[in-house]
Formats: sequence, C-alpha cells, structure tokens
Amino acid sequence: MRWSQSFIPTLRDDPADAEATSHKLMVRAGLVRQLGAGIYSYLPLGLRALKKAEAVVREEMEEIGAQEFLLPALHPAELWKESGRWDAIDATMFRLVDRKQAELCLGMTHEEIFTSVARDGIRSYRDLPQIWYQVQTKFRDEARPKSGVLRGRQFIMKDSYSFDVDAAGLDKAFDAHAAAYARIFERCGVFAVPVEASSGAMGGSESTEFMALSDAGEDWIVSCAACGYSANLEKAQSVPTPADSPSTGAVPEKFATPGIRSIEALTTFEGGAAAADQLKTLVYSVAGELVLFCLRGDHELNEVKVMEVTGRSDVHPAHAEEIKQALGALPGSLGAVGVEGQPVYLDFALRGRQGMTTGANEDDFHLRHVDVERDLAHGEWADLRNVEVEDRCISCGEAIEVRKAIEVGHIFKLGLRYSESMGARVLNAEGKEIPITMGSYGIGVDRIVAAAIEENHDENGIIWPVEIAPFQVVVSPLKVKDAEQLAKAEQIYEELSEAGFDALLDDRDERPGVKFKDADLIGIPFRIVPGPRALAKGNVEFVERATGEMQEIPFASIVEELEKRA
Ligand code: ATP
Ligand code: MG
Repeated sequence: MRWSQSFIPTLRDDPADAEATSHKLMVRAGLVRQLGAGIYSYLPLGLRALKKAEAVVREEMEEIGAQEFLLPALHPAELWKESGRWDAIDATMFRLVDRKQAELCLGMTHEEIFTSVARDGIRSYRDLPQIWYQVQTKFRDEARPKSGVLRGRQFIMKDSYSFDVDAAGLDKAFDAHAAAYARIFERCGVFAVPVEASSGAMGGSESTEFMALSDAGEDWIVSCAACGYSANLEKAQSVPTPADSPSTGAVPEKFATPGIRSIEALTTFEGGAAAADQLKTLVYSVAGELVLFCLRGDHELNEVKVMEVTGRSDVHPAHAEEIKQALGALPGSLGAVGVEGQPVYLDFALRGRQGMTTGANEDDFHLRHVDVERDLAHGEWADLRNVEVEDRCISCGEAIEVRKAIEVGHIFKLGLRYSESMGARVLNAEGKEIPITMGSYGIGVDRIVAAAIEENHDENGIIWPVEIAPFQVVVSPLKVKDAEQLAKAEQIYEELSEAGFDALLDDRDERPGVKFKDADLIGIPFRIVPGPRALAKGNVEFVERATGEMQEIPFASIVEELEKRA
C-alpha cells in the first residue's frame, strides 16, 4: 500500500480521556476511533492488526481440530430461559423486544446457542468428540467500559465449545485449548500466564484464565515465584499472617464502646483490640436474604467468593436499616454470636481463634473473650477473604506477589451445566441416553491486540510483534522528488510485495523526520531506507523498530534479510 493514498490519521497528542497506553497509542496511530462509550470503529490499519490476530487464532484452532461456525449475534430469549441465564444475568445483557413483542438479546456469549445446535444434531457417542468455534462480535453492557478496546461494550471474541462423551474427553479438549492458547499468545507477542480462576456462581469445575501482566489490567493475580502457584485474586488462597490468641474468658463479656463504629477505632480505644484480634462481621443481601460473613478484622471480604459459596450472583451489602431490623444494631456494632435467624459463614483464617472482640448487636457495645469455635459453632466454614500481600503461599509457604493483569483468555470446564438444563443428550455405547460433557473457551481478539501494544511499545509508539503488525515493513525514500530514490523505493516495494510481504511505501512528500516519526508511531517492525549514500554502494539502510538498530545491507539481499527476521 502507498502511504500517500492511505487513510492513516496519526495524531501528535494523546486523546484527553485515555489512561491506558494501548488506548492512547491505538488512537494516536490511527488504528481506532471512538463512536460511543465502549464502542470503537477500526480504521484500516487497526483492522489489519485485528485480522492478523484473528488469523493466528483461526490457525491454532484448526490445529486442534476445531471447526468454524458463525452463529447469530441476535438471540431469542427462549434459549436463555432454558438454561436459566435469562434471569440470572444482570444488566450486562443487552435485551430488546421486536415488533411482535418477542424478547431477544444480543449475544454476550454463546453457550446456549451452540448447545442448541448440538442438541439438534448430535445423537450418538459416535458423533463425539467435537470442537466448534466462531469469531463473532459479542455485546456486553459493561458497568465501566474503559481503556479503549480492552473493555468494550461490543468486542470480538473467539469462542469455542467442546462436546465429549465423558470427563476424560473433556480433559483432553481442555488441555488442547490450553496449549493452543499458549501458542496464540506467544505468536501475538503477549506474555500471558495461566492462572486458576473462579467459576463464580454459574458452576463448572475447572477454570483457567490467561493473564498478561500489565498495569492496564483490571484483574489481580497472586503468584509464588518459588513453586509457581498462580491464581486470580478472586479465587486465590494464602496462609494468613499469624495472629496472637490472647487467653480467653469462659464466656464472652459485653463492654461499652461509645461511638466506636469501626475496626480501626476499636484498635485505639482503651480496652479495645488489635485489628487481627477483632472479628469483622459483614451483612450481605444474597438473593434478597440476609447472610452474615465473619472475617479477621484486618482481612477483606471477597465478593466473588461470596458468590461461589452461596451459589448466587445477586449479592450486595445489605442496607443499614434492614440490618438494624434483623440484628438490632447498625453496622459498626455487629457480630454473629448468638445469631440464629440468618446463615453465618466463618472465614478459614478464624480457625482456632480465641480471645477475639466483636460487635454485640447492640449499638455502642462489643463482646470480648470470644472463642470462635465455641461461640460461633453455628457458623459454616468457608474461604471468604482476599489474599493480602504479606501472606504466604498456600502451597509452599514462601512469599507471594500480587500483580495487576489483563485477562486475555479464559477456558472453562462446563461439565453437564448446559447439556442437562437444555437437554443435549447422546446415546452411549450401551444405548443409554447421557448428557454431553461440555467445555467453553474464550479469547478476546481486540484484547490480544491491545495487550500486545501494552507489552510492546516505547516512548515513540507501538512496536508490533511481526505476526500481527498491520504492515511488516515500510519502505521510506528520503526524498520522493529525487526520481532515482523514488524509483528504487518503488522497486523494493514491488519486490517485497511479490515475495509476499505486507509492505507500505511511504511515498509522501514529507521531511524524513516526519516520516520516520509516523512510522515509529504506527510501529512497523522494519524500515528500509534507500538513501543516496547507501545506494551508491549498492546498499540500503535496514532499521529494526524494536531496537533502533541500523545496518546497511546489499540491495539484492533485502528479501532474504526480511525472510530471516519476519
Ligand atoms: P472480564 O473479567 O474482563 O470481564 P470475562 O470473565 O467476562 O472478562 P469471558 O466471559 O471469559 O470474560 O470472555 C472471554 C474473553 O473475552 C476474555 O478472556 C477477554 O479476553 C474477552 N473479553 C471479555 N469481556 C470483554 C470486553 N468487555 N471487551 C473486550 N474483551 C472482552
Ligand atoms: Mg466480564
């Protein structure tokens, strides 16, 4: 392509509203333009990168025997009602009504639709296994669309689904996807690590997310350099920092704590207690019912774990008035000792703790000498808390790290979740009807492109990994008015194009400084400059974007040099 005839609207300044580097650079390099909150148009250069990432994804999916489909983005509500997700999913789902008043939604994922195809078309264990995939636009009314295409409300996902006769088959499909994903990320220049993930309220057994370490991410991952343990904070466990168990009285003792309404305030109150020796009692509304969650005072409740423990996703902190009505006190004086009307969950870190202080369910009063196993025996043990940075690794006891990351892919063992609710069954070898065992696997194509930029850039702009670069090489004559230079540049451009390279000819009548700056911003991996001095020796300048390294190579060996590197 010739730059002079292309639409590559580069900008000198960062867009005002952008924070993430990839967002800034995608706009500045003329890859995308925003249409609305979380809605982006791809311009020609951006689309080239996106299509290349899609191509890598397709190749690796075909490699594991997956077959490509294209299912609709517009879904009748009925299928989602069959699986139970029409009601279970919150406002994230875009819902609409057609002219006949029928309910529809825009697909945020496609488990229901693929399951319905399998239900109608797969009859026997002999038809299994199958892996089906598509590259399709998804719609999600995200609460906080941000960071450009990293979290859009319309985005492109490769989603695939595996259908097997049993769990062993699913394991194979799952492992094949894990390996394919590792290759995809590597080829796209994204360093992504697999981590244990939560399967949330929707069930399913094993779930692995692929995380690209980046400050632009919205997830936190917990990892241990010593043993390799790594998990999403939503799921991660750890050994808590040790806490004292001061000697305890035979029964809890009530004492007045006027005006003391926080863990922090009680730490400095005379006769109070250190945060780690307090019980934090949080009251949540879970599907409309109040539930108590008790943690060590210096620990934090993890809402995803609340969902997993209760099997519900409609959970939120209860309102002060409903709490006062149910327990007799306002937040700040709450506790679970003696509470019978509501379910009580106790975090594992409270095991064996004695001499603790907690709210008395009477405003301005607390209880001390609380022995968790004795006084909260009605509670149920669960993992409820967030890992803290000072904690130790759950599997080896060494120090851990907590870092920000972008979730670029997610693979998930669904098991029988959809085949049972939607009736997707096959006859097994014994002629018995059994539900199909399923897996679901997603990868965000826009997110791969943005994550690749997060990882591969410098102060001058993008540094594309060769596989997804919009163009692999740019040919930049210094002076297009110099007929000989331009002719040489044209010749190189033609040869490269013929040899199968995506080449861009910067035939604009601009100063070299302007051209090089633009080429650096849009991040083309290699630049060839047929300058007069090099040409006189039968050479051209060959510049690598990533390192800035410049060398002269013979005119005749340009294709060879690129073949070696690209
Ligand atoms: P997140 O926690 O970031 O919202 P998710 O768990 O909802 O992601 P999945 O439903 O597992 O994501 O979707 C599979 C993949 O689709 C993700 O790993 C990610 O790469 C991509 N993806 C999900 N939501 C978005 C979005 N709003 N914008 C761009 N890509 C997305
Ligand atoms: Mg999401």
